[in-house]
Amino acid sequence: MNSHQQPENADQAMEELQISQTLKQITYKILVFSGKGGVGKSTASANLAVALALAGKKVGLLDIDFHGPSIPKLMGLVGRRPDMIGEKILPLSFSENLLVLSLGMLLNAGDDAVIWRGPMKNGAIRQLIKDVAWGELDYLIVDSPPGTGDEPLSLVQTMQDLSGAIVVTQPQQLSVDDVRRSISFCEKLNLPVIGIIENMSGFVCPNCGSLIDIFKSGGGQQLAEEKNILFLGKVPIDPAIVESSDEGKPFVYHFGKSPAAQAFDTIVNRVVQYLEVDVPARAQKEQEHSDVKKIESITRFAMPLENGMVSAHFGHASQFSFIDYDRAKNVALKIEQKTPPPHEQGVIPKWIADEKVDVLFTGGIGHRAREILEGRGVTVVSGVPQGKPLNLISKYLKGELETSDNMCDH
Ligand code: ADP
Repeated sequence: MNSHQQPENADQAMEELQISQTLKQITYKILVFSGKGGVGKSTASANLAVALALAGKKVGLLDIDFHGPSIPKLMGLVGRRPDMIGEKILPLSFSENLLVLSLGMLLNAGDDAVIWRGPMKNGAIRQLIKDVAWGELDYLIVDSPPGTGDEPLSLVQTMQDLSGAIVVTQPQQLSVDDVRRSISFCEKLNLPVIGIIENMSGFVCPNCGSLIDIFKSGGGQQLAEEKNILFLGKVPIDPAIVESSDEGKPFVYHFGKSPAAQAFDTIVNRVVQYLEVDVPARAQKEQEHSDVKKIESITRFAMPLENGMVSAHFGHASQFSFIDYDRAKNVALKIEQKTPPPHEQGVIPKWIADEKVDVLFTGGIGHRAREILEGRGVTVVSGVPQGKPLNLISKYLKGELETSDNMCDH
């Protein structure tokens, strides 16, 4: 659910819960998009799923393309209907670690995609996400409705914690303009674009096997560079794809040595590298960066207290106040009072330094104690007037704290 969409009633809240229970068992959720139909989105989805499964991942392939769900045909599952366990739909097994479910498997023969009205489509999308018993998966590949209309929108809003979208395009300018729209659609929805696949890019001669550029290729690649998006690879027009699609055999499975299958291998490796290595590494770096920033903006103050006020006598105060102060936000994050150890030479300064204090306020302080503290990197501000700790900190940070002579140097 998108953060701006709140469930309106108990049924909807229950549905949200069921959706999240289904989806939280799936590590990576990828939507495959295209600007329009016919560019090879379903072919790409099917072969991505098969290639991931061949690489040992546990994979689900879900087809929610209302404009002609073609996954059953591509996977050789035409006419097969999924079983139910209770309320849940059991996806079909393509292989030991690849499960498949298509909208097409749930329609009765003769159902015409065109008669679907908006709310029905929306309901079907939610149901297909909520009610399918995938179990635990590494990857779910979703063959999405083409374009940037209500259906892909509803899909993105229903799926939670999406890893991102893969956009399939053809090399010609017209198709690249379509994909530009797909990318801004993802940007508006805060959906990361994992990368672009340029399909039907060049032609592999069946006689000599060499690659012939029919359309001017490279449009998808240029766009990827322009938008700073990963270019996943070019898949040539390959007669093996048409042949294998017609026979319901995903070509990466049955024609593993063909140039298109090899192109897909590279694409899958890039997707895995991006999601399993690059994204977590980037997140860890950002976390470290924000930790450093957080630490840099926090100063730990300490001060001897007498009756809630900063005391003149560092060595004889009954209590010390320790305050972690966020300078960027100008607020105290933590205020603690602690009883110092018994007064003996050097003991209290060591205790303050061990408490990782940055700045010590005191009315007075002996020179030996000051030396120990400064030697441990603590800034000692002496001659601090009596006052409330937070007022004094605030003045100090503004450069307005007026100090007098060290009030006591024993
Ligand atoms: P979409 O899902 O975008 O509508 P499809 O994946 O159904 O498109 O592909 C449309 C047609 O193009 C199919 O007949 C498919 O076999 C064929 N096709 C897709 N990619 C290639 C390719 N690289 N080489 C040859 N034929 C392809």
